Amino acid sequence: MLAARVHLKPRKALPFFGRHPWVLDSAVARVEGQPDDGDEIDLISDRDEWIARGIYNSHSRICVRLYSWSADESLDAAFWRKRIERAVAHRAALGYQDPEGATRLVFSEADGISGLVVDRYGPYLVVQCTALAIARRLDELLAVCHDLLAPQAIVLRTEKGVARREGIEPREGVITGELPSGPVFITEHGLRYGIDLVEGQKTGWYLDHRENRRAAAGYLRDLRVLDLFSYSGGFAIAALALGGAREVLAVDASQRAVALARANAELNGLARIRIEAAEAFETLDRAVEAGERFGAVVLDPPKFAQRREAVPEALRAYFQLNRRAVELIEPGGVLVTCSCSGHVSREDFQSLLARVAQRTGRDVQILEQRGAAPDHPISATCLDSEYLKCFICRVW
Ligand code: SAH
Repeated sequence: MLAARVHLKPRKALPFFGRHPWVLDSAVARVEGQPDDGDEIDLISDRDEWIARGIYNSHSRICVRLYSWSADESLDAAFWRKRIERAVAHRAALGYQDPEGATRLVFSEADGISGLVVDRYGPYLVVQCTALAIARRLDELLAVCHDLLAPQAIVLRTEKGVARREGIEPREGVITGELPSGPVFITEHGLRYGIDLVEGQKTGWYLDHRENRRAAAGYLRDLRVLDLFSYSGGFAIAALALGGAREVLAVDASQRAVALARANAELNGLARIRIEAAEAFETLDRAVEAGERFGAVVLDPPKFAQRREAVPEALRAYFQLNRRAVELIEPGGVLVTCSCSGHVSREDFQSLLARVAQRTGRDVQILEQRGAAPDHPISATCLDSEYLKCFICRVW
C-alpha cells in the first residue's frame, strides 16, 4: 500500500530539504490519502518533489515529524533499531559506560528520533515520550532498549502539557521490572547521588550539567559559594568535594529538592554545606540588603521562556537575577550562570551579561561558554536541540 502524501504550500519546502524535522500544520496545503494519526507519510513539495518520510499527527501543531530523508527507507522495526543502536554507540564512544553512572542514551531530534528520550541511571532506564509518533510505537522501541541494554527496570515519564498537545494518553510509572524501594544511587565524577526516578524533576537528575558541574568546581577553591536553584545539590556538592570550596549555601524553593540535596550531602560525607528552602529572588534581595558577600554564585534557574513570546519577560528576569548575583560577588569572584530556555539565544544571554556589567559597574570576564554534555548533542539541522547555556565568569 502506498503511504499517504502530505503536500506543502509553495515556498515552505526549504527547511525540510534542509533536514529540519518539524512540519507545522500552517505549512501544509493538503493531505492526500487518509492517514490515521501515527501513520507513516511522505512529505511532498508544491512542485511534487519527494522530500522526506515522516509520521502524521492531525492533533498536533507539529502535524508531521520527519525521520528519514532516504526514499528507499521505511520507518519499520529495523529502522528504529538502527537509530537506537546508533544513539547508544555514541554514548559508548564517549566513554559514558560506568555501570553506576547516568547518561542520556537517546536525545530526541538530536539523535534522529524526534519524541523519544531515554536516560540510563545505573541499571535502570527512564523513558520520556514527547510525540504521538513515538507513543504509538513505544512498546516496539522499549523492546529494542530491553534487548540492547537489559535494564533492571524501565520507568516512563510523560509531561502533561506535552501529552495534551500531542494527543497522547499519558502513561506513567514503572512499566517493566522493579525499582528499589528508596532512591536509585548513581555516581558522577566519583560522587554519589540518590535519585528519585518516579517523582524527581525531569527524569530525576539534570544530566545535561554533568561536565558543567566539574568545570565550575575547578574555579571555586577556598571560596564561599551560593548555589541558587540547587535542586538535589549537583553544583553545590561538586563545588565542595571536587573543587575544594570553603563552604556552600544551597537554596531551592522546593522542599522535596532540599530533602534530596541534604541526603546527597550526607551521602558524600560533606559538612560545610547549608541547604535552605527559599525563593531565589528573595534570597538575593535579602543578602544584598544585609551586605553579604560570596566568593562565587551559581545560578541555574528553571526555564523562564517556555514560548518565544515570553522571551522579553524572561530576559528581564535573567537580568534581575544576574545583576543581584553580581552585586553579591567579591571582587575577583566567580559567577556561574545558566539558562535552559531554548528560545533565549547564546547572543541574547551574552548581551544580558554586558548589561549587567554596565548596570553594576563591574568588569565581567567570560572564562568559559559551555552547553550541555556531549550525550546531549545538538543536531546541526535542528538547532532547537540547543537549549542549555552555562557561562563561567570572573567578576571584578
Ligand atoms: N542546578 C540543579 C538543577 C536546577 S533546576 C542541578 O545541578 O541539578 C531548577 C531548580 O530551581 C529546581 O530545583 C526548582 O525547584 C528550583 N526553583 C524554581 N523556581 C525557584 C525559585 N523561584 N526560587 C528558588 N528555586 C526555584
